Amino acid sequence: MLTLQTDDVVLGCRAADWRDALDQAARSLVEAGRATPEYRDGLHEREAQSSTYLGNAIAIPHGTPASRDQVLTTGVRVLQFPDGVAWHDGNRVHVLVTIAAQSDEHLDILRALTHVLDRDGVAGRLASATSREAVLAELSRAPVSARVDADTLCLNFPARDRFELALAGAARLRQVGCVDGDFVAAVVAQEPVALGQGLWLASSDRGVSTPALSLATPEQAFSGPLGPVNGVFCLAGQGDAHRGLLERLAELLDAGGGEALADADAATVLARLAGETASAETARVRVLNAHGLHARPAKQLVQVARAQALPIKVRLLEGAAESVSAASLTKVIGLGARRGQTLVFSAEGAGAAEALAEVAAAVRDGLGEKVEPFEERRGVDDVEQAGATVELEPLPADTPHPAVAASPGLAIAPAFVMRLPRFDYPERARDLQGERAGDATTQRGRLERAMHEAIEQLEALIRQAKGGEVAEILSMHEEMLDDPELREAAHEGIADGLSAEAAWWQAVDTAARAQEVLADRLLAERAADLRDVGRRVLGILCGAEMPTPPDAPYILVTEDVGPSDVARLDTGKVRGLLTVRGGATSHSAILARALGIPAVVGAGERVMTLADGTELILDGERGRVIPAPSNERRDRAELRLKEREIREREAHAQRFESALTRDGHRVEVAANLGNTAHAGDAVEHGAEGVGLLRTEFVFMAHAEAPDLETQIGEYRQAIEALDGRPLVARTLDVGGDKPLPYWPLPQEDNPFLGLRGIRLALTRPEILETQLRALLTAAGDRPLRIMFPMVKDIAEFRAARAIFERVQAEVGASDVQLGVMIEIPSCALLAPSLAEEVDFFSIGTNDLTQYTLAIDRGHAELSAQSDGLHPAVLRLIQMTVDAAHAKGKWVGVCGELGSDAQAIPVLLGLGVDELSVSIRQVPMVKARLRELSLDEARRHAEAALAQSTAEAVREALEAL
Ligand code: PEP
Ligand code: MG
Repeated sequence: MLTLQTDDVVLGCRAADWRDALDQAARSLVEAGRATPEYRDGLHEREAQSSTYLGNAIAIPHGTPASRDQVLTTGVRVLQFPDGVAWHDGNRVHVLVTIAAQSDEHLDILRALTHVLDRDGVAGRLASATSREAVLAELSRAPVSARVDADTLCLNFPARDRFELALAGAARLRQVGCVDGDFVAAVVAQEPVALGQGLWLASSDRGVSTPALSLATPEQAFSGPLGPVNGVFCLAGQGDAHRGLLERLAELLDAGGGEALADADAATVLARLAGETASAETARVRVLNAHGLHARPAKQLVQVARAQALPIKVRLLEGAAESVSAASLTKVIGLGARRGQTLVFSAEGAGAAEALAEVAAAVRDGLGEKVEPFEERRGVDDVEQAGATVELEPLPADTPHPAVAASPGLAIAPAFVMRLPRFDYPERARDLQGERAGDATTQRGRLERAMHEAIEQLEALIRQAKGGEVAEILSMHEEMLDDPELREAAHEGIADGLSAEAAWWQAVDTAARAQEVLADRLLAERAADLRDVGRRVLGILCGAEMPTPPDAPYILVTEDVGPSDVARLDTGKVRGLLTVRGGATSHSAILARALGIPAVVGAGERVMTLADGTELILDGERGRVIPAPSNERRDRAELRLKEREIREREAHAQRFESALTRDGHRVEVAANLGNTAHAGDAVEHGAEGVGLLRTEFVFMAHAEAPDLETQIGEYRQAIEALDGRPLVARTLDVGGDKPLPYWPLPQEDNPFLGLRGIRLALTRPEILETQLRALLTAAGDRPLRIMFPMVKDIAEFRAARAIFERVQAEVGASDVQLGVMIEIPSCALLAPSLAEEVDFFSIGTNDLTQYTLAIDRGHAELSAQSDGLHPAVLRLIQMTVDAAHAKGKWVGVCGELGSDAQAIPVLLGLGVDELSVSIRQVPMVKARLRELSLDEARRHAEAALAQSTAEAVREALEAL
């Protein structure tokens, strides 16, 4: 999405008329390197079709579709005209937001500006703004409002006075990241002031990063020396952001609703702060529309709301405590409600219930769109489904079962099938039998004991884990169990008559869903952790045994593994990994390779029918598993395993020698790195350089974008460890499945087809520039290769190169090459045009396969088919190599295909000059290359290219 940046604002422009203003805007785009001078004609043509005046003194000129060819890089220039310009449609314009866009990105700007149209006085403020920041602040997305939600509240806190409550509220705001220690110190140093009705307020604007409000209530309302204490509000103020919230608080107090907050639950507190009175009728309904409440369904909702005799308000249960009028289109769209989120409608007066029922029914019916209802599943359905696999036909003994090779190596060991137990429990406490039966007090006691036991289990596991990532994840689980909100939510369920089991799972599931709807993969992983720890407690409550891995070595058989599961594996015991789902290029498979665990993934549900202890041969090279092998097969496999061990030893012994084929052709073998501290390890494994430094991991390791000095330090560490060997650094590649917490991206329907890689970096050129400067400075006179990720054509390369050239002219590093990653088919198809201007190509086969076969590389079921040896991918590789060699440029492969034993001869035969693989694979990849001759490799390549499917390619290669 296009975003507005301060550098793009030009203050104090003057124009004779609107044509002159448009000309200035066009020149400004040209000066910023966004468009050619011809783009001016496109702007005028578009304006002639219809006015681009938006409202509130803002116009958004942009070119016609035909003029898109004149756009060099997508971007915006904002021109301020303090005296105003008489626009041709009779309006007066103070700001031109001029857009050069290669597609329909101007629609994003339009969407971002709609809220501006709602505000009063914008035109005047835009005209008189004296700084670029002030102009941007006016135009920036939504006006900031203070945060108040279930996470900022701190209810039922065991406090004895107002000060403790104020501190609890401040600490809560700090925990959720809205304030820092300065704020807490400021709150501690003050005396909360009385608001009346037993409510108090402590506030400060020191150390506030996000304005927010907390309410801390005591377990039991009490009386202090200055009067009753029902709760203390703790306000983190910033500018005007909290004004609306304070107004609603004042209204609440005016209506005498303060005292009721003392023992209210989170939902009630938020409802009251949102302006819903205790006498209001409310209706909750989930949004079913696939794309949430976008313009069309929102319009329908507004029409239904307007047709009612009463004013209806609406808010988002998962959002801030602010109700808006359901009759206002911009307000309803502004809620940003997504599928699965819950709308809370409220109304007061006679007929309110009927009106709400009508509105809710309209939402349930899809507001004019065809909608899929949610399956109202109990939270443990996914757990129970594990038991359903018994109906599948078991895998036949001694027969290879093909799947996807995800991490090389061979393992022979008994299976440990990670089947999650079935949890049986009644929903209501009254239906419990025997020892579990009892009232709410009994249920609370049971839950407390189970949580205590779960903590003990976790502590024992942490001791066993002896540090490292595993211990970190388990400690995080322990912390999750300590969360008072979770306990409180479960207690509420128990108070409503639920069994301890049902109340606990409901609390866990609700919290997990709340994280999942945030649509951020990292948070979704946290949700998986929450469910994981939730199941531990549920298992104890139900007396169900959680599966305990055996003490002896085993092959882990499981539905799927996320990166955090892989990190948790005990590499001392786990000989191999076999999963139902997953693909070779998912990041968990990459992690399995980094840990050196052979893995076969995407093997299908039938593997869950294996009995624990069944002996398995897991072939991570050919991608297959053989259950209960015959003695002969087992002997053969053992022999292979021994041979492999010998080969590994030999490969290791020869790791520092170059990879020369039998006929003397050299292929460079380099290492892929996510952490600059591992460069020394790469050299120690025989890497002849780093062929891919995934620099986004450097960014992910910091809480905010690392500055120039920090980056120089990071890159220098790798360059020094490489001791003269080349470093190929890929510039920041975020987006898709790699979000950066401090670079929030708009919600996209297809993030892999959206703002990621170089497209995203070009929206923040200053970040790219700093990174390039850091790389070039760190390199000095040592060999540095820089490549841009996710480039689709030469225009993007040129735009990025322009920034590079500017920085290089200043820094002057002496041994630098500039290349692009070939990850998008368009780039491979257009390789001849790129080869003229780049120094090298590096083929990212993980993404190239994803985009060629149109299969999400992380897709649970489909990614098993996402095989880089697909002939379509191989043809693109061939085109790339041919184009590069015709211009004397070199080509590397840095995707996972580079370490696939069957693919190595094919890549060599296609003429690839360098393979970059994970550190542990370097010695074996070199050894594999040494076994081959170039002729033989060309035969492999020809055989592969002649096939029509990936399976046929693998079969043909096997037969050679
Ligand atoms: C690739 O896409 O092949 C690649 C090497 O990049 P990443 O796996 O980091 O997306
Ligand atoms: Mg990639």
